[in-house]
Amino acid sequence: MFDWDAFDFETRAVRAGQQRSNEQEQGEPIFTTSSFVYETAAEAAARFSGELPGNIYSRFTNPTVRTFERRLAALEGGERCVATASGMAAILSLCLALLRAGDGIVASRSLFGSTHLLFDRYLARFGITTRYAALADLDSWREAIGPTTRLLFLESPSNPLLEVADIPALAELAHRHGALLVVDNCVMTPALQRPLALGADLVVHSATKYIDGQGRCLGGAVVGREELMEEIYSFMRTAGPTMSPFNAWVFTKGLETLSLRMRAHCESALLIARWLSEQPEVARSYYPGLADHPQHRLAVRQQSGFGGLVSFELAGGREAAWAFIDATQLLSITANLGDTKSTITHPATTTHGRLSPQDRAAAGIGDGLVRISVGLESATDLIADLERGLLACRPYLEERGDKSG
Ligand SMILES: *Cc1c(COP(=O)(O)O)cnc(C)c1O
Repeated sequence: MFDWDAFDFETRAVRAGQQRSNEQEQGEPIFTTSSFVYETAAEAAARFSGELPGNIYSRFTNPTVRTFERRLAALEGGERCVATASGMAAILSLCLALLRAGDGIVASRSLFGSTHLLFDRYLARFGITTRYAALADLDSWREAIGPTTRLLFLESPSNPLLEVADIPALAELAHRHGALLVVDNCVMTPALQRPLALGADLVVHSATKYIDGQGRCLGGAVVGREELMEEIYSFMRTAGPTMSPFNAWVFTKGLETLSLRMRAHCESALLIARWLSEQPEVARSYYPGLADHPQHRLAVRQQSGFGGLVSFELAGGREAAWAFIDATQLLSITANLGDTKSTITHPATTTHGRLSPQDRAAAGIGDGLVRISVGLESATDLIADLERGLLACRPYLEERGDKSG
């Protein structure tokens, strides 16, 4: 096998993990088989005992899934990767493999909604408790850590407000307390940020987002060092949230264009964020690539790009936000992100709609907040579409202006 560390990211993205079969194929084949067969009873015994490594059953291993795992591990710079049926299955697997009753998690308050529910509603039932910290405030992490803390869990940049966590500082803090740092790297992907090199112990992904990049399949993955991954693999093969071979093939092909796609997402997102920040209807825009973003310098230090998500606050509240969204013609109204097609979301009434108004306010999700996942359409066409949104929301701003004036 190659030593993939010796190759550049773009080369690893296209080549790592592929094993050609006797058919001499150029593309990666899809092994749609539930189980594998042997020449003799003795060989079967040796495969099952692990004396002869190899495939037994696709809940355990599958060659197509393994190709994806090896390629993603090479891109994240981790020793081993375990692929799962979804991003949530990856988070569940790592928690159940590494934690037991009495253990604690400290997580960033701004977290993917289902991750929040998993921690608070389900893991709590099994005696695993979660405390929350403000993502960009180290002191708040220090205060939340206790003697039972085993795991620090964060997403950086956060969604939808795009705050940035100091990953090296949090890794150091975690390790000082004998805890592991887990980073959900879904919004950045390894093309823009490699948390393991910054000191994190594990990276989790929803491959559903940028790794697929075209909105076709659900999948997830965990990457890290062998000793932790063996525990997670062991749980995954026993409990069964396995990635399907077809999805693994889609994600493998997705990784081949990841670098190019992320570069294009970043370029357009920066143009759009700059343009939005100049519009009078926009009270505030959130993008780590803007020089006035509170963690701009940190983002420059630990990321190699600022990503494809842009959020902004319209002064006119919910009415203005809905009028803006409804007036766009090109953008898809959906909460998904990481697609070639740009999407537009009103977080307060969709992804964060289940929170109480007080919790929403505490999380900084205003009624006028709009989030865009910038796709691969031309930035000029996207800005023209957003201009339609601005025109449509103007009456709501003026109405407000009249009331307050
Ligand atoms: C979508 C998402 C997840 C969950 O992934 P699924 O593939 O939908 O299960 C987890 N974390 C983040 C940041 C996400 O955006």
